[in-house]
Amino acid sequence: MKQPSIPGLSYRILAQDETRAILQFTYICPCCHRTSSVISSVFPSDYGRLELGGFCTSLTCSVCGRPSTVRFLYTMLSGKPGEDGSSA
Ligand SMILES: [Zn+2]
Repeated sequence: MKQPSIPGLSYRILAQDETRAILQFTYICPCCHRTSSVISSVFPSDYGRLELGGFCTSLTCSVCGRPSTVRFLYTMLSGKPGEDGSSA
């Protein structure tokens, strides 16, 4: 059975280099309805989508262990204060 993607809450880049990035994703699990916080790697082919938004990844719930496809938007990226990009 194919699962629909669900919107995530936030993600945070813990580490990033040329080979991969380590990210912490937070989302509400559709199975157990708990807040799940999952650390997962992202490869350079997806770096562009991390910055542009619309990033979608498969995560395993830290509470109940069920997999979900979760999508994240760039605006959810935390840790960059005040950089709104309001260039004329
Ligand atoms: Zn769960």
